[in-house]
This record gives sequence, structure tokens and C-alpha cells, in this order.
Amino acid sequence: MHKPPSGTHKSPSETTPGEVAKLLRGAGLRPTRQRVALAHLLFAGGDRHVTAETLHEEALARKVPVSLATVYNTLHQFTQAGLLREVAVEGAKTYFDTNTSNHYHFFCEHSGQLMDISTGAIRIEGLPEAPDGMVISRVDVLVRLVDKR
Ligand SMILES: [Zn+2]
Repeated sequence: MHKPPSGTHKSPSETTPGEVAKLLRGAGLRPTRQRVALAHLLFAGGDRHVTAETLHEEALARKVPVSLATVYNTLHQFTQAGLLREVAVEGAKTYFDTNTSNHYHFFCEHSGQLMDISTGAIRIEGLPEAPDGMVISRVDVLVRLVDKR
């Protein structure tokens, strides 16, 4: 399991572009302008779940000139560096979570929104033994929601 570099957890409102650059360097990433701009969108507002599409729209709205492909690549680089956690919901759609701690999710099938569930709220029992030579790295739980009728 990836751990973000220590000392990166800051109160969101205090996150400045300089601190974002430091966060990137600490994760072994060169703080290019695009990375800093995207990281600032991601990490300056508290824990959030984004898709490449929603972050791209947000970037354009803030006049950050990036292509969707760049956003997509950057999200994957951040994930590999341990700054984000990938949450696979549907085959085609990947969500990126700024909260890299171990936790579960509600997924609203109508709005496409992900919401955190604290790990303490769900107990998982009877996990199978991992096959020889392997260990379980983590368990993902996605609780799907639809509107009440
Ligand atoms: Zn989450």
C-alpha cells in the first residue's frame, strides 16, 4: 500500500501553490506548472473525489489550460506517487480520491457521486486466505445507492 509522504497533511485553506510544489517534490514529482495547478485544485479544498472529466472542467473554468489527456495522465502519476487513491466504480469510470487512507464508499448511481464511509462503520468477516505467496493489500467496499421511491 502506498503512503503519502509524511508532513503533507495540512488544513486545506492553508495550502498555497508553494506548499503544493513541496508536496509534489516530496512525492518524487517535478512540480511543473500544470501539475502544480492541478494539484492545487485537488488538494486545496479538503478531501474530494474527482474523475478526469470533472477535474478537467474545473481546470478550464479556472483558466488552467490543460487537455483532458494531460489531466488523465497527471491523475495517474499522482496515484502512482501515493497522493491519490484510485476508486474503480464502473468499468469505464475511474474516480480519484484525495483521501488515501483506507476507507469505503457510497456510490449514488443517479448522480454519480462518491461519498466516504468510515472504515469503522463496516465490519468485514470471513475473508478468504490469500493464495500462496500473496497477501491481501486492501479490500474495497462500494455501497451502491439509488433514490428512494
Ligand atoms: Zn473517499
